Amino acid sequence: MFANFGSGIRLRTGSNPFFSIFKSPQNPPPVIINLSQNLTLAMATLSAPDNRRPTCPSCSRPTSFCLCTRLKTPVLENSIAVTVVQHSLEKKHPLNSAKIATLGLKNVDVICVSDVLSEAHFDLHLFESNPEMRSHDSVENGKKIEPADISFTIEKKGVVTSLVNNWNQIQDFDQLLVDQSAIDGVRNGLTVKKMQRGSDHKYVEEFVIDVPPGSLLLFPSESSIGIEDVNFKVKNLIVLDGTWSKATKMYKENPWLKLLPHLKLDIDKLSLYGEVRRQPKAECLSSIESIVYALKAIGGEDLEGLDCLLDVFESMVVDQRRCKDERLKFESNIKSM
Ligand SMILES: [Zn+2]
Repeated sequence: MFANFGSGIRLRTGSNPFFSIFKSPQNPPPVIINLSQNLTLAMATLSAPDNRRPTCPSCSRPTSFCLCTRLKTPVLENSIAVTVVQHSLEKKHPLNSAKIATLGLKNVDVICVSDVLSEAHFDLHLFESNPEMRSHDSVENGKKIEPADISFTIEKKGVVTSLVNNWNQIQDFDQLLVDQSAIDGVRNGLTVKKMQRGSDHKYVEEFVIDVPPGSLLLFPSESSIGIEDVNFKVKNLIVLDGTWSKATKMYKENPWLKLLPHLKLDIDKLSLYGEVRRQPKAECLSSIESIVYALKAIGGEDLEGLDCLLDVFESMVVDQRRCKDERLKFESNIKSM
């Protein structure tokens, strides 16, 4: 007899059970694996990534779970730009919810950030810098390079080991964080360049990002404020994309983020993510939930369009929950044989 567990996998039970794995009805006959001798091989095969399974080139999901067709077209023209600062491990995660934002919003940028290996160096160029305050210019490959207004080097965990400040001469990073001229300078916009020091001790550029005036970082901290206390026109929302521990690490290892105004959301809703991805706190939201709730709180966006993004996220969670249930049922049947 056959018991159907979906996803093209059927389990034949009986006195001499074995697996049949079908790709599709059109594919060649199923591979038959003797269960008693090859259980380990069979389980490895079933849990390994199936590279032959067709995936959507746009959303990277299996075509049967494609998110693109669930999104509204044309995409939502958000007036507040969104910058996703994405942990490098999050980029390829099959349940990465920021993907819904990149597919469903028009004004969204993603920068990929890695953990600090040994050291990282940051150059901050303020949009409204004062050249007279700079101590020197440098020359690189025959071209005059404007020195950064603020440069600093960090170790792992974001400890600042050196600071060169051509902006207002403050030489202590913690002091810089509370200096009004630095805060004002950063809030008028800046360019941030990160150089990562590799195992060969050479520095390699990891990212360059423009942080426009009116940027607001969504992150809970001691200095975070509620939306009612934001006293400027928000033009750009910055969101950290990763598990809570990765987001916290990115925040520590990108100290320039601390110079930006921080927003915390006061939301009673629990994330749907808890059903399929482990989060340390019940109130941790997925990236797409954070983006949608923050844009709603700031106001001025198409609420129906934002709700559609949440609907797509919910459908992704439902898909994953169904797959998880089927897998657990499948495993429990194997154990009971
Ligand atoms: Zn797709």
